[in-house]
Amino acid sequence: MSRTTRNVKTGREQSINAAADAGDASVADESDSEDFTQAERAATILRQVHDALRRIENGTYGQCLIDGGPIDPKRLDAVPSAPYCTRHQTLLDAAPSLAEINPRPSKREAALP
Ligand SMILES: [Zn+2]
Repeated sequence: MSRTTRNVKTGREQSINAAADAGDASVADESDSEDFTQAERAATILRQVHDALRRIENGTYGQCLIDGGPIDPKRLDAVPSAPYCTRHQTLLDAAPSLAEINPRPSKREAALP
């Protein structure tokens, strides 16, 4: 009986320690993911600028990638790399998965000579 009691007590201590460790880990994860988020944001901006430069070459700069409609020049003044008109950007902000309807060229295609 005393052995069982000790085991229960030990088990409880272990789970408390595990919870503390999990808490520490989640704090570490948070700061890591913050760095990741910043890097991801920077990469997204860089990609958007590259895409905008390509659209200038193609002559499609200033056209919404979704409907091909004109992007408000005021919006382009504020965000020169804006790929979508205000209406579609608002929709995408509300549901980012909609960006999938505009698939980017695959890396395999880009790697072809
Ligand atoms: Zn649009």
